[in-house]
Amino acid sequence: MKDQMKDIVALCKRRGFIFAASDIYGGINGFWDYGPLGVELKNNLRDRWWHDMVIAPPIGPDGTPISIVGVDSSIIQNPNCWEASGHVGGFNDPMVDCRESKKRYRADHVFVLIPKDGEGVSFAFDKDAEDELIEKRLKKLAKGKSIDDFEREMLDQIPAANFNNIVGPDTKNKGTLTEPRQFNMMFHTYVGATASDDNKAYLRPETCAGIFLNFKNVVDSSRVKVPFGIAQIGKAFRNEVTPRNFIFRSREFEQMELEWFCEEEDVPKWFDFWVEQRTNFWLSLGVDKSALHFLDVPKDDLAHYSSRTIDVEYKFPFAAPGFDELEGIAHRGNYDLTQHQKHSGAKIEYYDQQENKRYLPHVIEPSTGLTRGVLALICEAYTVDENRPSGVYLNFHPSMAPKKAAILPLSAKPEHVEPAQKLYMELRNEFVVDLDIKQNIGKRYARQDEIGTPYCFTVDSETAEDNCVTVRDRNTMAQERIPLDKVKAFLREKINGG
Ligand code: ATP
Repeated sequence: MKDQMKDIVALCKRRGFIFAASDIYGGINGFWDYGPLGVELKNNLRDRWWHDMVIAPPIGPDGTPISIVGVDSSIIQNPNCWEASGHVGGFNDPMVDCRESKKRYRADHVFVLIPKDGEGVSFAFDKDAEDELIEKRLKKLAKGKSIDDFEREMLDQIPAANFNNIVGPDTKNKGTLTEPRQFNMMFHTYVGATASDDNKAYLRPETCAGIFLNFKNVVDSSRVKVPFGIAQIGKAFRNEVTPRNFIFRSREFEQMELEWFCEEEDVPKWFDFWVEQRTNFWLSLGVDKSALHFLDVPKDDLAHYSSRTIDVEYKFPFAAPGFDELEGIAHRGNYDLTQHQKHSGAKIEYYDQQENKRYLPHVIEPSTGLTRGVLALICEAYTVDENRPSGVYLNFHPSMAPKKAAILPLSAKPEHVEPAQKLYMELRNEFVVDLDIKQNIGKRYARQDEIGTPYCFTVDSETAEDNCVTVRDRNTMAQERIPLDKVKAFLREKINGG
């Protein structure tokens, strides 16, 4: 399973989904570019989330549609807002440096094998290290001991005083790891001409802040009434110490966040509602139920603002046989609004006319990584099939597929190409379609399989006579003939269900 990641990364580059940023300069760790197909896939997921949240939000528990509006706020805000939100003081991960390898690790991303018999040294490993690699290293460094001779403990749970007995993940010698230090993950810059502390500003580490900052503006300018939601999609930046697992943990990424404002007493009802809605969202995109896992985050691991969080986890291949976070659904209390009211001095309380009361509503936040969602969709779609020339195909839900169909003239002869061009022009205003003329047909099918195009329409010599094309289904490879004038309706039915 873990090896599959390598194949997925290779396919993403080969077919134009995702490239390393600044590739020709050797890349820059933690940054990625989306290619011609990646941007389509990402836009599909983004648009679907926006549609399901803002354009046609779900029906609420009482049977009436709920109300959600959107915003698009600045990436750079007044730096005081990050003081208020707790990010300047608290957005920290405990970091450990290795004096020998010069590498830096997140203490909660490293585990240590401690000898059960209390004899000898302990060994540190990356949390994703595979058993095979662990055994290999132990064989070299631990005098023939094997995994079973050790107990496992995360590095952040071990007192720093015991670090001198630990061999770091990338060294042979013990005692090279420093004490954990806090490290702020916000990128900063300077606004204006002078680079002084007075002009320091931050790139947002999450998109939700812009929602809280505009809470009052939205309430005053639109007709929303509690309960209601504000949604935002956009870039977020975190100076992750160990960006890893392809686009899973990047330093620049995109989030899709909803802040759902409700009365405190209604929190349990809405919390359950959003967990169910968000689960249905992923299922409707073709993610298998068995690929999702729900983690009720233990109290000690909760973010500073949250009293309850459920992480929706996906079975990413690198986490096998486990799962890793795709989305977090958090009860944030009214922490953010309270903090912003206090720090800004502005009165941002909600006024309930009917009850004649002022208050700061509580918030349920489903927060999804858009780019992490793209990775989940690619992993879910990746299907090995030795019975086809490509050896693999991407089984995207048709609504997510970057290309909905490919139009393939059987040869480059005008009698094949001209009707194909005509069909392409008819379809392209409604669907993202490919017109692919050159190469033998088998190679063209293989390419479309690898990029997850659900349907290929082939124009051949009979098309001029019977006004039909052959449609090939990506998953079954079955072929049938359908009239040219039914192609649009066929695609509508398959992609949108009618
Ligand atoms: P972690 O503890 O793994 O660093 P987090 O719990 O701090 O992550 P949140 O702050 O809850 O993450 O962010 C909400 C969502 O944003 C996550 O569920 C994830 O999908 C996405 N996300 C967070 N950090 C990153 C990142 N570095 N790269 C890509 N997506 C991210």
